[in-house]
Amino acid sequence: MDRKKIEQEARRLQYEIWHKRKLLFPLGEPSPVGMCKPDVAARVLDLEIDYRDDLGTFRAGPSAYTIAGMLDRGRGIISLSTRFTDQAMRFTGAHEIGHFLLHPGEHFHRDRPVSEDGHGRSVREQEADYFAACFLASKRLIEEAFAPRFGKAPLVLDDNVAFYLRGAKAHELMRASTGSLDFAAAVAGARSFAGTPFPSLAEKFGLSISAMAIRLQELGLVVS
Ligand SMILES: [Zn+2]
Repeated sequence: MDRKKIEQEARRLQYEIWHKRKLLFPLGEPSPVGMCKPDVAARVLDLEIDYRDDLGTFRAGPSAYTIAGMLDRGRGIISLSTRFTDQAMRFTGAHEIGHFLLHPGEHFHRDRPVSEDGHGRSVREQEADYFAACFLASKRLIEEAFAPRFGKAPLVLDDNVAFYLRGAKAHELMRASTGSLDFAAAVAGARSFAGTPFPSLAEKFGLSISAMAIRLQELGLVVS
C-alpha cells in the first residue's frame, strides 16, 4: 500500500474525529493534537481499548518478546500493555488502529513494543507504524508546531544551529555521521532553541524522541 494512501486513511480518521468533536468531547474540546489519540479513535471506530498490566509473551526461546499490544478484530478489542511508557502505549494503540483500518484480513494480531523493533519489520508492520505516525502527528500539526520553535523549515544543520541546540556540546552534533538520526533527534527533543524555551516536539505530540525524529526526517523538516 503506498504511503499516500496510508496518510489519507489517517487524515480521514482525524476528520471524522473533528466532525464528531461536539459529541466526543461534551465537556470541552481538547487541542487538535489532543484529539488525535488512540482512545478517541477507538470510540469513533466503535472499538474498545482494554488496558492490561500483562499481555504475556509471544513465542518461546530467544525470539520471544513481551506483547505490547493486540488487536482482536472479531471482538472489537485493542489490548494495550501498561508495562510500557505512555508514549509507547500511545504509539502501539495507534499502530493497532492502523492494522484495523489498513489490514482487514488481520483478525488477531499481536505486537512487540515499537521501541524494540528496529530493522526487519514486515511491510504490514511498517504500514501500521506509518499510519500511527501520521495519525498521532500529522504533517500539518507538526509544521504548525515547528515554525514557532525553529523558524522556517527545513532546519539545516550548521554551526549556529548546532550551538542553539547543544550549546557547548555543539561539536557532538556536527560530528554525527551523515544519514544518522542524531540531528533529527536533537530537534525532536529540544526544549529550547536560540535561548527560547518550549515543550519539545516529542513532548507536545506524546511521541518518543526517536519516533518524532523519524517523522521530522520523513517530512523533510530537518536537513543534516
Ligand atoms: Zn503490528
